[in-house]
Amino acid sequence: MEIIRTVEALKKWRSSFNESVGFVPTMGALHEGHSTLIKRSVSDNSKTIVSIFVNPTQFLAGEDLNTYPKKEESDRKICELLGVDAIFMPEISTMYSDDEVLISAPNIRGYILEGHSRPGHFDGVLQVVMKLLNLVQANNAYFGKKDAQQLALIEQMVKNYFLSVNIIAVDTVRQNDGLALSSRNAYLSENERKEALKLSRSLKEAAHLFQVGENNCSVIKVKMLEVLDGLDVEYVSIVDRSFKEIENIEQNNTIVLVTARVGATRLIDNIWI
Ligand code: AMP
Repeated sequence: MEIIRTVEALKKWRSSFNESVGFVPTMGALHEGHSTLIKRSVSDNSKTIVSIFVNPTQFLAGEDLNTYPKKEESDRKICELLGVDAIFMPEISTMYSDDEVLISAPNIRGYILEGHSRPGHFDGVLQVVMKLLNLVQANNAYFGKKDAQQLALIEQMVKNYFLSVNIIAVDTVRQNDGLALSSRNAYLSENERKEALKLSRSLKEAAHLFQVGENNCSVIKVKMLEVLDGLDVEYVSIVDRSFKEIENIEQNNTIVLVTARVGATRLIDNIWI
């Protein structure tokens, strides 16, 4: 497995073969969620490259950029074990210069929900993903449904900018008790981890209510908030796959999202119905 740190080395690696390339962009501190994306890429493609880069432009002032978990040694081992061919680990100065041409998230879909809570976050996400997709020139790039709005915006960017990569969406990986895996779970105390289960429980409740015949989103949101009682809920939202708020759940076209703070940790989760 090659560790690549420069643009020149990455381009050299990429031009050394013609087989299909799968790409898994991450911010490191790899867990089973990331591993699932990587396994999928390894099985779909001849070569797999993972990027590990804590992208500063997607963090707002006061967020956890400086304390974001770093686990370089174990990340390398995980990638090696999973059969990854290369890891791209650039420095910030390799990825960014002064006064750059910018990519902006769309005015509406980029500024609702996560984009409303974290204005400018998706500009930074799209900027770095555009750079990485251009550098890697992958056939397939893998993203988690856990970050549903991010996934939708990346799909839109690929379409709007006529990029030729296929974006592959991968289901959210959870622990046995339902907690969605996240690098930020490392911030949770034992007690907070128990409280954090309310997010996945509220989503399960929404799916259950729909299964037993309730499709009114207002009713479902009230029930979800009951499950979330005690948490600092930022939003509960039910949207269609184009991220428009809907009044009634429609099978195969709905995403139920929840974001809440558990102690100081901000967690997001969602379920696709
Ligand atoms: P991150 O390192 O948090 O930027 O995540 C890198 C990629 O892994 C993104 O496409 C995420 O959506 C995806 N991911 C993170 N957590 C999970 C999870 N629990 N299940 C599936 N994909 C995930």
